[in-house]
Amino acid sequence: MNSAYHRRVAFPNELGISTSRQLQNTPSTQRPGLIVPVGSTEQHGPHLPLDTDTRIAAAVSDVLAARLRAHGDFGWMVAPAIAYGASGEHEGFSGTISIGTRALAELVVEFARSACRWAARLVFVNGHGGNVAALREAVALLRYEGRDTAWCSCVARNSDAHAGHTETSVLLHISPEVVRQDELVPGNRAPLTDLMPAMRRGGVAAVSSLGVLGDPTAATAEDGGRIFAEMVDGCVERVRRWTPDREGMLR
Ligand SMILES: [Zn+2]
Repeated sequence: MNSAYHRRVAFPNELGISTSRQLQNTPSTQRPGLIVPVGSTEQHGPHLPLDTDTRIAAAVSDVLAARLRAHGDFGWMVAPAIAYGASGEHEGFSGTISIGTRALAELVVEFARSACRWAARLVFVNGHGGNVAALREAVALLRYEGRDTAWCSCVARNSDAHAGHTETSVLLHISPEVVRQDELVPGNRAPLTDLMPAMRRGGVAAVSSLGVLGDPTAATAEDGGRIFAEMVDGCVERVRRWTPDREGMLR
């Protein structure tokens, strides 16, 4: 059976550079799956760019697509990222643009309703914890409507919370040119559970004037490579298994 080969030829990797004709008249059994990175535009301390979460979600999505295609059982493409999310906890820091949970959930629902007219299934690859409530709500509705949609997050064990060792290491691995190495300063390293009461009232600004939760000073590209691989492996396994829970989270 060499249908995987034919699908690989039929569908380019990236939706943005494809043409409509390439996706036209595809038999329903051979329609592509669509991977949609979901990130944020929010402060990430003095050393990381505002698009850190979007960058991570997009990089994980690219490798995820390549890995799934290598398995050959489905044609997967990567959509241009949704680069704004629910970042209310980072309001007050210049550069942050939050569209909030309500608007993000609406966006995800309408995005998927439209894409599912030609795509066989959709997976949202999430790079920002604050987006989870919107994804749960939106994908639960989409699944209720009969659309084969799901989501998974870019997660690794023992991660710190925000712009610390984890995210800084991953960026040193995928985009070292955007990390301001001379601006690495430790942030608030208290456990997130201790910080939550103050954060619920005043956001990240209430616990860290720098906007950093964790310590980026010991971040390395090597650690980033390992953490990034763990994020990718987790998504590959979950997408291949394709057992979404009621709210669409892949297990
Ligand atoms: Zn982040």
